[in-house]
Amino acid sequence: MSFESLGLRTELLRAASENGYSTPTPIQTQAIPPILEGRDLMGGAQTGTGKTAGFTLPMLQRLIENKPQKGRRAIRALVLTPTRELAAQVTESVRTYGKYLPIRTTAVFGGVSINPQIKKLRDGVDVLVATPGRLLDHVSQNTIDLSKVEILVLDEADRMLDMGFIHDIRKVLALMPKQKQTLLFSATFSNEIKRLANDLLNNPELIEVAQRNTSAERVTQVVHPVDAKKKRKLLSKLIGSGNWKQVLVFARTKRNCDRLAQSLIKDGLDAAAIHGGKSQGARTKALAHFKSGKVRVLVATDIAARGLDISQLPHVVNYELPHVPEDYVHRIGRTGRAGHEGEAVSLVCIDEAKLLKDIERLIKIEIPRVVIENFEVDPTIKAQPITMGRQQQPRRGGNHQGRGQGANKPSQRRRSGSAKKQANGNKKKTSSSASLYKGSSKQAQSTDRSRHQHSPV
Ligand code: AMP
Repeated sequence: MSFESLGLRTELLRAASENGYSTPTPIQTQAIPPILEGRDLMGGAQTGTGKTAGFTLPMLQRLIENKPQKGRRAIRALVLTPTRELAAQVTESVRTYGKYLPIRTTAVFGGVSINPQIKKLRDGVDVLVATPGRLLDHVSQNTIDLSKVEILVLDEADRMLDMGFIHDIRKVLALMPKQKQTLLFSATFSNEIKRLANDLLNNPELIEVAQRNTSAERVTQVVHPVDAKKKRKLLSKLIGSGNWKQVLVFARTKRNCDRLAQSLIKDGLDAAAIHGGKSQGARTKALAHFKSGKVRVLVATDIAARGLDISQLPHVVNYELPHVPEDYVHRIGRTGRAGHEGEAVSLVCIDEAKLLKDIERLIKIEIPRVVIENFEVDPTIKAQPITMGRQQQPRRGGNHQGRGQGANKPSQRRRSGSAKKQANGNKKKTSSSASLYKGSSKQAQSTDRSRHQHSPV
């Protein structure tokens, strides 16, 4: 199945292909034709399945092919999302896929000033992506007119209901024409969702992707708890002993990417870094060498890795967990693509326990923990806050940032002081490390892992 055969316009095909998409995902194959026909749709799918392109591509096509009503530019499509992050992400996708179409898209969500949003709305918008609360703020200020909406998308409807948005959603619905196309996506189908769907959808096409709670239905996920200062050694060991030929490694900052790539090269591995601080030429070269197999390990930041489509990428490593849980889904979505098996490994130190918890809450899965022999965590190490950017540069004595690359001495991570102080400190430390270990201790599937020792639950 190709994008062409789904009946999409060339402008959309070009944008999809430039974004690195060659084959539609199952949800796209199922969702695009009925949406193009103008049907309502109820989709069982979660982030990571490719659902955003699944509704955005045909939505844009319909907007272009159905002539807008004469007069001022009006909001013709509304996408409601539960979170700001998702709103921002969907907006970015609509802009990406609509790159060659004269469609204006903007997002409105809370937590930021309303005035720039008002200005954008005044300038005229075709597609609006919004969280329900801020949308209603605009409604109350008369800065939004929803009376011309032709297409409504409820993205992650179950999450919106979980977050208590049902009343807001119903208020928003009352402001739109009855006659419109409605697309509802949800990972789960509670009675409340079914009721909402019943009220909203008109003879909908029902689609569901086989395994709906991960991007990455074919991706084996595992967490290796490990102290920050041992991460680099563990990574080299995993690559070497597993004989991994092509591995994409994520770090949080440009600096960490560079340092890690250099350390891996010292370990004898062909590695390169790719991030926003590199010239386009250097990025293209690193990527080409990675694709051809000349470079075995590509170390990337989240931004640099967006849109990287490397077919059959077998291994993704989260050397550092992302701050935004959705980025985890994007990261692991780099593997297990187009029907190939993939493995996503996360090296998680105690500082990242909270990030891990947030990720698991998002993907609704407890990722199995597997401790690797000789890399057991030191329970006396206390969690440190994770800082980003400039602050992260190791200052005198070091701080969080460089630890992964061995910038800190282990002693700096330990508590000093009286025995009593030490004992008190340990109590606290144990409780934070306990949360890192909270996941299931399910055996990871790879045979190689059967040798590994499991972490306490
Ligand atoms: P989503 O479920 O919409 O959040 O998408 C998950 C990830 O899959 C995103 O990083 C998309 O860029 C990517 N993606 C979506 N459709 C395709 C496709 N047809 N081929 C490859 N990657 C895709």
